[in-house]
Amino acid sequence: MRKNITIVIPSYNEESNIEKLLSSLNEVIVSLNYNFKILFVDDGSRDGTIVKLKNLARNQDNLFYIELSRNFGHQNALKAGIDYAKLNSDAVISMDGDLQHPPALIPELIARWEEGYDVVYTVRAETESLSYFKNKTSKWFYSLMNKLSEIKFEPGTADFRLIDKRVAEVFSDFTENELFIRGIINWVGFSQFAVDYMPQERYSGKSKYTLSKMIRFAIQGITSFSTRPLYFAVFLGLGLSVFSIIFFSIYVGYSLYFGHPISGWASVITAIVFFGCLNLIVLGIIGIYIGKLFMQSKGRPNYLVKNTNYQ
Ligand code: UDP
Ligand code: MG
Repeated sequence: MRKNITIVIPSYNEESNIEKLLSSLNEVIVSLNYNFKILFVDDGSRDGTIVKLKNLARNQDNLFYIELSRNFGHQNALKAGIDYAKLNSDAVISMDGDLQHPPALIPELIARWEEGYDVVYTVRAETESLSYFKNKTSKWFYSLMNKLSEIKFEPGTADFRLIDKRVAEVFSDFTENELFIRGIINWVGFSQFAVDYMPQERYSGKSKYTLSKMIRFAIQGITSFSTRPLYFAVFLGLGLSVFSIIFFSIYVGYSLYFGHPISGWASVITAIVFFGCLNLIVLGIIGIYIGKLFMQSKGRPNYLVKNTNYQ
């Protein structure tokens, strides 16, 4: 019997990429001996993404869609797709809807899965088709992440991977509010294999990850997998208090000995501003964790589905 594989594609305003992506996907999957389903998750797009999907699904019986009730973000949309896909798939492949993840890599992902790997993830080669900025920020992010967190991340991993049904089922049970899926997949273990690939340029449209979204995503990732930033706050506080005790003793000793008057408001202001900033940073770090607790305590779902034809 042929095995079932579902390809999950979170899409937000990808109207102009769907047809191209579908034709590249179909080209690849016709020659493979599996039952494929292509599942688009429309993440509250404002363009005609969902209309197009519904029209195309009428003529292509392996094409499915999930329409979310609003924009929940890439990670939540991907979770929606995996939650549905795991119901009747032996493996789930996730990829972006902008053709940056080459469909031509799918046969290799499947081949590794058939060899017995439960997670076949991809590692993006540093390339000129991505901006210098994206290459660099991604590298910094992963090295910071590896310093701060207990699990190791490989630079250049994105949400382009194949996971076995077992992993999909485990993942579905996660009720984390701020999802950082590549971290979770790394965390769950099982047997994993990495495949290198050359990312393509976005086929059309603009990236939805603006600089501020990227920074937020990075902070989310770090704080989801580590409490080390809290220790950083404590160590910073300890280090600075030792420093100020030494500085204060020297200053007092010097004034007593030389009878030096206490003067210089500029240095006082600088010190106040400096410690004010430190206070804010540390409070911010604590605040982020409290915010996470707050969001998590409400136990709201990661996404709401408005409509789907998946079966
Ligand atoms: N995406 C989504 N919801 C969002 C933002 C993005 O489903 O709120 C999808 C988007 O349509 C694409 C994928 O997530 O398929 C990756 O987004 P994008 O290409 O904008 O990010 P980049 O490749 O620049 O990191
Ligand atoms: Mg992209």
